Amino acid sequence: MRLRKIFPRFLCIVIYIAGFLEWFPASAQQNDKTAVQRLSGKSGRPQKIIIVMMDGFGDEYYRNSDMPTLNEMEKAGLYKVVPSLMPSVTNVNNASIITGETPEKNGITGNVFLNPETGKEEYTEDPKQLLAPTLFEKARAAGVKSILFSCKTKTVQLLSGGAGETMCWETASPVWIKRLGERPDIYSREVNYWIMEAALYSIRQDPDLGLIYIHTTDYPMHTWAPESPESKEHLHKMDGYLAQLRKAAPDAAILITADHTVRHKTKCWDLEKACPNRGIAIKAAISPEKDRYYKHHLGMGGSAYVYLNSAGDSSGLRQLLLGLKGVEEVISRAEAVRRYHLMPERIGDFMVLGDSTTVFGHLENSDSEDLPMTYRSHGSTYEARVPLFVYNARKAPPLSYFTDNYKLAAWLYQAY
Ligand SMILES: [Zn+2]
Repeated sequence: MRLRKIFPRFLCIVIYIAGFLEWFPASAQQNDKTAVQRLSGKSGRPQKIIIVMMDGFGDEYYRNSDMPTLNEMEKAGLYKVVPSLMPSVTNVNNASIITGETPEKNGITGNVFLNPETGKEEYTEDPKQLLAPTLFEKARAAGVKSILFSCKTKTVQLLSGGAGETMCWETASPVWIKRLGERPDIYSREVNYWIMEAALYSIRQDPDLGLIYIHTTDYPMHTWAPESPESKEHLHKMDGYLAQLRKAAPDAAILITADHTVRHKTKCWDLEKACPNRGIAIKAAISPEKDRYYKHHLGMGGSAYVYLNSAGDSSGLRQLLLGLKGVEEVISRAEAVRRYHLMPERIGDFMVLGDSTTVFGHLENSDSEDLPMTYRSHGSTYEARVPLFVYNARKAPPLSYFTDNYKLAAWLYQAY
């Protein structure tokens, strides 16, 4: 009698546990499978994706170079010249491409920012500063194994959240150096070839890799104009690497864009000196292009964030700044947020926009300086147009979707 009472209860527990162990994972697997099918368009794994963020690769660099592989990709896939994000500096655009969101959502407004807690200028390197999920996190949730290649540590530190593996020129392990040979100098064209060799090695050795993100360096564009033989040679060789990528993973989609182009600049203003010299002291002037790779652009860029000492200085300072030769526009924080989708807490009271040949940054001895003929930089609206290629992608949205460079991979793994 007692046994008869207990037995049904025991059976219930057994069924409950069995159900938990068996049915629940089956259901989760089923959900995963459905999501994967949605992504790939047919049963099986999502399509392999190779993304190349060609740092500094403006359309005039493309048009001036012999790049037959990219020409083929342009014809066979989607191609468009699109706006890049302002300020036209690397971190802002790379973070937006990797998150598929504008700086207003991902929080990255420059290579440096004024930390409101310390009142000091700091490099944007801490992954906590990135406020939106990365493509690697989305890929991981979709069961896709990913790897990030970059020449620069700042990229890896800030943007690699969720990546299965990272490989950086600066911190490459002895194993990588043995595979690829000694590292070329960071200030060289060869560093880009080295990073492409690394990506090719991984693609050939690990067929399970589903997402490969390659970030090159813009040192060649800072050094050579699009028409120069050195630039043409660099880009022709990079095109050869794109051909090898396509051959190594013929089924992969290849997505390519850039963060900005690079142009010759003739004049620099140090606003932290120029403003007090003309009667209005300021709290700080931040050049969002400044980074640890000083040789590229000496920390100067075509836009600046200016922080006021007092709100009462606002109209006087605006007039002062507009009076400086080469300052094209001075916009308020609210206008910068509206126009460029920047995060208001991480930019200045004003955003100062230079004309096509003027940059802002720190100068040792004076408040302005003429720059040498060889000086090239970016950061202004004049460097904020780049090419975008989507090649061999099975489920890519139509060309009209790709309104900006940060949309390049925003459509991937969307179920997550
Ligand atoms: Zn860049």
